[in-house]
Amino acid sequence: MSEKVLSHLMPLPTPCYVIDEQALTDNLKLLQRVEQETGCHVLLAQKAFSAYHVYPLIASYISGTTASGLFEAQLAYEEMGNKQIHVYAPAFKDEDFDELLRICDHIVFNSFSQWKHFRSKALQHPEIEFGLRINPEYSEIETDIYNPCFTNSRLGITLASFEEKELEGISGLHFHTMCEQGADTLERTLRVVEEKFSKYFHRMKWLNFGGGHHITRPDYDLEKLIGCVNDIRNRYGVDIYLEPGEAVALNAGYLVTSVLDLVKNNMDIAIVDTSAACHMPDVLEMPYRPAVIGSQDPGVLPYTYRLGAPTCLAGDVIGDYSFDHPLQIGDKLVFTDMSIYSMVKNNTFNGMPLPSIYLLKSDGTTRLLKQFGYEDFKSRL
Ligand SMILES: *Cc1c(COP(=O)(O)O)cnc(C)c1O
Repeated sequence: MSEKVLSHLMPLPTPCYVIDEQALTDNLKLLQRVEQETGCHVLLAQKAFSAYHVYPLIASYISGTTASGLFEAQLAYEEMGNKQIHVYAPAFKDEDFDELLRICDHIVFNSFSQWKHFRSKALQHPEIEFGLRINPEYSEIETDIYNPCFTNSRLGITLASFEEKELEGISGLHFHTMCEQGADTLERTLRVVEEKFSKYFHRMKWLNFGGGHHITRPDYDLEKLIGCVNDIRNRYGVDIYLEPGEAVALNAGYLVTSVLDLVKNNMDIAIVDTSAACHMPDVLEMPYRPAVIGSQDPGVLPYTYRLGAPTCLAGDVIGDYSFDHPLQIGDKLVFTDMSIYSMVKNNTFNGMPLPSIYLLKSDGTTRLLKQFGYEDFKSRL
């Protein structure tokens, strides 16, 4: 990231998220290339990123969105115009289903019992494609909370529970078994999916390879992905969907924070005006250590600090970082890769204010998209 970008972030009031339009556009161009070279469709998984102000930009490069339920589907319907809207949820509610039928073009069920429950309604809508999520019981994810194939997982239909005679009206199969992974993982996963479920492929019009494809990471093997998609597409004559969340907005956002105080307890500690628990919960859940511009791992540069939140949660610590100069109260720090799984997950625990949301436009100007205040805290209680 350039000094120039940094200079645009420094004047902003903190805490704030900043979506980087140029970085987002670069990601979208890569995803568009995947569509162009395979004929597949790429969908934004809104679970990772729902900043709808940039939906028109996203819509100009990829085929549409996928939703985890009614609200995300509604958001896509309102903000992304005439693009595809897919929806999948572990279970749909009766009272939501009519609206889903009205606004979605693909509906994916998690079980045969859900399919049978909604089938008579569904079959009155020949314009909609209905699919089933399968669980190939193969994944390469180490962290159980992010592993849809972990023991006794509720997500998707295993081969043992597959009811071949109930497929009338089903035109697609969906699997989602990856997380931040490369095309080599996809290749190995596809082998298992084929081995177990390809006997049903000839009855399908489409297959959805889910999300977790880290397509926009610099070392991602794009050619292998393109090869995998084309291979399955050609051999089975099916349309392919990919629904990445992370990859759409990977490294396309920042969280800017200010140092509020400096304290000492065996080590130097900086209290900043942002919170891991409230503004970047994946830091505690994953867990992971977000990068801070101008910093290194603790001990690498001369001045090491623990960055902690102004909440009362003892464990609300973002991580330890070293700098080439001592921090001062009022200094601004910039966390990177803060567009994904951040804004969509934030909360006002401890009465923490929500960061405002800015767009850093490709021309270098910044635009305030959203600002929050006390009412946003109060109105939810
Ligand atoms: C979370 C999720 C995605 C997106 O995953 P990323 O890791 O953000 O790419 C796609 N599909 C389904 C069903 C998901 O649950």
